[in-house]
Amino acid sequence: MEKIDWKNLPFGYIKTDYNIRCFYRDGKWGEMEVSSSEYINMHIAATALHYGQEAFEGLKAYMGKDGKIRLFRWEENAKRMILSANGIMMAPFPIEKFKEALFKVIQLNKKFVPPYESGASLYIRPLLYGSGAEVGVKPATEYTFIIFVTPVGPYFKGGVKPVDMMICRDCDRAAPMGTGTYKVGGNYAASLKAIVDGHEKGYSNIIFLDARERKYIDECGPANFFGIKDNTYITPKSDSILNSITNMSLIEVAKSLGMKVERRQVPIEELSTFTEAGMCGTAAVIGPIAKIFDPLNNKVYEYSKDCEPGPVSLKLYKKLIAIQYGDEPDPFGWVTIVD
Ligand SMILES: *Cc1c(COP(=O)(O)O)cnc(C)c1O
Repeated sequence: MEKIDWKNLPFGYIKTDYNIRCFYRDGKWGEMEVSSSEYINMHIAATALHYGQEAFEGLKAYMGKDGKIRLFRWEENAKRMILSANGIMMAPFPIEKFKEALFKVIQLNKKFVPPYESGASLYIRPLLYGSGAEVGVKPATEYTFIIFVTPVGPYFKGGVKPVDMMICRDCDRAAPMGTGTYKVGGNYAASLKAIVDGHEKGYSNIIFLDARERKYIDECGPANFFGIKDNTYITPKSDSILNSITNMSLIEVAKSLGMKVERRQVPIEELSTFTEAGMCGTAAVIGPIAKIFDPLNNKVYEYSKDCEPGPVSLKLYKKLIAIQYGDEPDPFGWVTIVD
């Protein structure tokens, strides 16, 4: 293993020693297999390749000051992967097997868990796809589950720096009764054009609107949206967004800090009333938003003139990170130690 520069890790892929695979054939899941290959052998007619039968998850393992490795709410990822599997007609991967694969892949790659001081973590990527061959449009009869890990630096280098966002006015990520609530690759394929377009115009990411009326905030690229005003944490309720586990957790943290929480439709005009806005997800926990540009009327909503995150976002961020790394007690019972 080459020496890893823990303090300067990118948010990218670095090879580790092992990954775990499990195959569904003849109506049942087989035994876990440990692999040291980064490649898969795939049938040219696998449904994942042709009809997008693929779902994934993302979670992290954190090394604490005490030298213990912690996982954050992993059961929620296991449950969400079952929801995604059912949503696109794949064989769900059972929770107990998910746990076995998860713990095993971390134990086998222990030396890749970044040290506490680095602020980095071990990103864990479970994926599930239709590996059986079909040419007609129907669900596969064979599935593959893979879990691999890769050490990642903090999503935002140099702490939490607010970023600029653009509202997408000529694209949708997911239809109102479509697959927006599932963590499937298809939603990402559908959002890439808008995200790249946003990058080219100088924006970090895109805010998608509700596809039905184009009046309400839906999601920020691969993260949920929240706004802050009057000691209240406000986050969109919609039937086309992915239920972020980070968002669910921030809601609880906000309540525990004495804030009010509202989960409801958020009209675009309300953006002008927030004192802070941000996006949230496993990768960055919180990404504060500096400004939001709406190309429809060239309006700019500003939240951070000095390139600093707002006080409420920072407080929520610090509290959640402290629980994840084990720096502070975990009153919610969210953390599992991997022995
Ligand atoms: C994964 C994901 C999120 C964030 O979810 P977390 O559970 O907090 O990591 C938000 N939106 C989309 C579209 C996602 O795929």
